[in-house]
Amino acid sequence: APVIVWFREDFRLSDNAALSAAARDGAPILCITILEPEPRQGAAHDWWRDGAIRALEAALQEKGGRLHVLRGKAEDIVPALAKACKAASVHWNRRYDPAGRAIDTTIKTQLKSTGTEAHSFPGALLHEPWTIRTQADKPFQVFTPFWRAARKYGDPRPSLPAPDTLTFAPLPKTDQFHCLNQDEFGLLPVAPDWATGFRETWKPGEKAAHEHLSLFVEDTLRGYSEERDYPAAEACSRLSPYLRFGHVTPAQLWHAAMQADAPAQNRDKFLAELGWREFAWSILFEQANVATRSLRPEFDALPWRTDPKGLKAWQSGRTGYPLVDAGMRELWHTGWTHNRVRMVVASFLVKHLLLDWREGERWFADTLVDHDPASNPMNWQWNAGTGVDAAPFFRIMNPVLQSEKFDADGEYIRRWVPELHRVPAGMIHAPWAADQETLKGCGVVLGRNYPHPIIEHKLARERALSVWKTFRGA
Ligand code: FAD
Repeated sequence: APVIVWFREDFRLSDNAALSAAARDGAPILCITILEPEPRQGAAHDWWRDGAIRALEAALQEKGGRLHVLRGKAEDIVPALAKACKAASVHWNRRYDPAGRAIDTTIKTQLKSTGTEAHSFPGALLHEPWTIRTQADKPFQVFTPFWRAARKYGDPRPSLPAPDTLTFAPLPKTDQFHCLNQDEFGLLPVAPDWATGFRETWKPGEKAAHEHLSLFVEDTLRGYSEERDYPAAEACSRLSPYLRFGHVTPAQLWHAAMQADAPAQNRDKFLAELGWREFAWSILFEQANVATRSLRPEFDALPWRTDPKGLKAWQSGRTGYPLVDAGMRELWHTGWTHNRVRMVVASFLVKHLLLDWREGERWFADTLVDHDPASNPMNWQWNAGTGVDAAPFFRIMNPVLQSEKFDADGEYIRRWVPELHRVPAGMIHAPWAADQETLKGCGVVLGRNYPHPIIEHKLARERALSVWKTFRGA
């Protein structure tokens, strides 16, 4: 009897516990993935998912098999398919969001009632999210003690090689299951095709992920802790979408970093970033509504502004603050932007424009190729100061100082804001403060080909602090 291996957010053959266990049993394997209607994913996520499916399909074909892509509710498809092909068992790697877990539990119960075994395996995290808890057996609320406890808990399990040989089972021949061909996925943009920059920047798939990882551990990791905050430098791993789609596992990253010839402080800093990802998942594991409710609920009463024009200016990178605009345009063009820049643009939306952090969370969810239902809301709430970790609301980033510090010569800005490409470093961070005739000589007329700042920093800061004080007083 065949074993069904259901690929979900784990588009890879190596370090895939569900697949390896099926291969060990020697039974023929029916590989499936399901385009589920819920949760609705963002457009950038869908773009990557299309590539992830194609890459896994190609990898399985090399082994003589194929990936069957089905559409519908997993609760309807998986038990029916198991019955139709008389499967001995269904294997999957766990997902940890509460909605996904609920679906998986329902499916497990359905399968058991019909005599099919269901086996779930650890997948996308260094440690299962219920293992790192406080002494009182509660989830951690603050990162530092969380990470200390996780490090004490030990190294993640060794990662598994890809199975050498696989034998495959076909999809049962019935009209009940329609295996989608590649033009039926419906995941790519039709018109307009906004994904040109995505195609130029990324190559989804396990092979590309490992090429990225090798380059990173052999080279970039050596200077990671000093250089990672500078967006113009190629100083971070850019592995986030590969992790999101499970082309690599954090355990593979962990072991690769541990074996790398890199100073310990760089390695530890990198591992701690993986720790933030774990921390985010430990929050979502307990709190289904982390993207819709402030973790400190009193913040939901904060009088956020309504400002469609301001929101649009932020989304399209036309705020008049060059670093903010560069980040938002990079995000739109490539589906990714640098962590430091994410922090600056998030602070700008929430503190300068006083717009609800959920507006930003939603925009990122639609535009990021690495959009992650745990990391995105956790980081938005951290930057907004609404309850994750100890970050306070009154910490307001100055976008000009951030720009001067992290993009001192303006290289990153010039890359993404071509209107400013002739503006020298001394003027590029705050063009409105420059001598306007000189600026004109560099091809920039504020209000004509580059916007005036949509709000003045000092005013924005005072407004945010005053709202905060009134809100606290109430
Ligand atoms: P590296 O610096 O190479 O770090 C390695 C890995 O560690 C990353 O790939 C990522 O998996 C993890 N990591 C690093 N920083 C963080 C962090 N602050 N929180 C959680 N994990 C982290 N990351 C996402 O993966 N998905 C998101 O949807 C997401 N939304 C964000 C929203 C905001 C407002 C902010 C400020 C940050 C967000 N991040 C998100 C975190 C971080 O910006 C990205 O993980 C990072 O920029 C990815 O680039 P990298 O792979 O080169 O990171």
